Amino acid sequence: GNLVTVLFHLGQMATATESLDEATFGILGEELGFNIQMVSPEDEDRELLSGFGMDLDQELEDEEDSDLEIRPPVVTVMGHVDHGKTKLLDAIRQANVVAGEAGGITQHIGAYQVWTEHEGHERAITFIDTPGHEAFTAMRARGAQVTDLAILVVAADDGIMPQTVEALNHAQAAGIPIVVAVNKVDKPGANPAKVRQQLTEFGLVAEEYGGDTMFVDVSALTNTGIPALLDAVLLTADAGLDLRANPNKDARGVAIEARLDKGRGAVATVLIQSGTLRVGDSIVAGTAYGKVRAMFDEDGVAVPEAAPARPVQVQGLSTVPRAGDTFLVIEDDRTARQIAEKREAVERNAQLARARKRITLEDFTRALEEGKVESLNLIIKGDVSGAVEALEESLLKIEVDDSVALRIIHRGVGAVTESDVNLATVDNAIIIGFNVRPDTKARERAAREGVDVRFYSVIYAALEDIENSLKGMLKPEF
Ligand code: GDP
Repeated sequence: GNLVTVLFHLGQMATATESLDEATFGILGEELGFNIQMVSPEDEDRELLSGFGMDLDQELEDEEDSDLEIRPPVVTVMGHVDHGKTKLLDAIRQANVVAGEAGGITQHIGAYQVWTEHEGHERAITFIDTPGHEAFTAMRARGAQVTDLAILVVAADDGIMPQTVEALNHAQAAGIPIVVAVNKVDKPGANPAKVRQQLTEFGLVAEEYGGDTMFVDVSALTNTGIPALLDAVLLTADAGLDLRANPNKDARGVAIEARLDKGRGAVATVLIQSGTLRVGDSIVAGTAYGKVRAMFDEDGVAVPEAAPARPVQVQGLSTVPRAGDTFLVIEDDRTARQIAEKREAVERNAQLARARKRITLEDFTRALEEGKVESLNLIIKGDVSGAVEALEESLLKIEVDDSVALRIIHRGVGAVTESDVNLATVDNAIIIGFNVRPDTKARERAAREGVDVRFYSVIYAALEDIENSLKGMLKPEF
């Protein structure tokens, strides 16, 4: 009753069961003399786990440097359709210097690990087996940072294409280093120099041109350049990333693929991020739980345990977790079950609240007035590249004062897709569709996540809305 009254005085109509946005909570807190802190879903989950005696942050903090061991990098292959992502993933897998155990048959479980000879040592690299940035961004949207590094595949006979740029944007938004695989160099029309030239415009400058991005010419068809590509991956990882994990504790990681198998029940491929997973461990993955009954590697061989960066297929979960769900080893089955059930309840509530929490252009204007935001993130999709470029250029010309920045985190040609919406949820962006509509999945997801997607058919109208919003003058829509 009281809260509703205070809110009313703040000019906000609310019912006792309604969820409020972040800004309102802040004001409400001040009004009542409380210091209210907003919790993210990750924080909420941490809190839930600490209720079961697990403090994941403390655990990390307690880790000594000497507990940490070098782990393999986890790599995603991205690029334009038909530029050879799938073929390259196959070629890399065949390049494995350590033969799979006898009896093994290649399985596609969502990820695999290969061993390569690097500067006189055998080193492992883990590849996510689902090419493309869609799966990558979907996982990021779920809070999971799985990939350490991206290989951007560009066909040398085709050069930069729309999805090349899209993939690049997604990798850069995630802040991960990129190694460029210039593929199809066996083709008569191949022009690898041109690919290097084109990519400089996007901030990827080849080492041979004085930049710090490694470009490797490959042919996934004739299997050339693969060892050099793997070398480049390890060199880039060693130069810029501190990839270490403690293998000597209970495992934690992320589910990267899962399905229901007729005979075996729920099977999930998990990637270990720290610790070691063993058969017999009780785990919880998202809202699924169970005891690890059996584990298999990418050759279908049963393994008793899995160390950091190792993908394994796990059997024994109660239900199918989603890609991007984190998993944890839990002391006992009962606790695992309780956590899963609590999470399910939390999730149901979050789903309801989420739709109201994302930023809309109107929210942005309000938050701006209150000095609570510094940048407006935009994603632009349009029917033709000329229009997208024109819109982007005009938007960036809008003059605003120094306290606020306009960031275009992604642009592309084509319908607004689920992947765009996922990116918007990660980076709290607003999507501008110019002469395009969302596909069904994108529309559903945007509605579910509360992402503001705006459609325009005149550039001027889009400019006007953004400009007004940046200047704190957007009129609420009715
Ligand atoms: P994706 O859509 O990026 O996964 O591309 P795919 O791996 O399916 O490859 C698209 C087509 O290009 C297929 O017909 C491949 O056989 C072909 N391809 C892939 N890599 C090479 C290559 O290095 N050289 C040549 N000549 N063809 C290739």
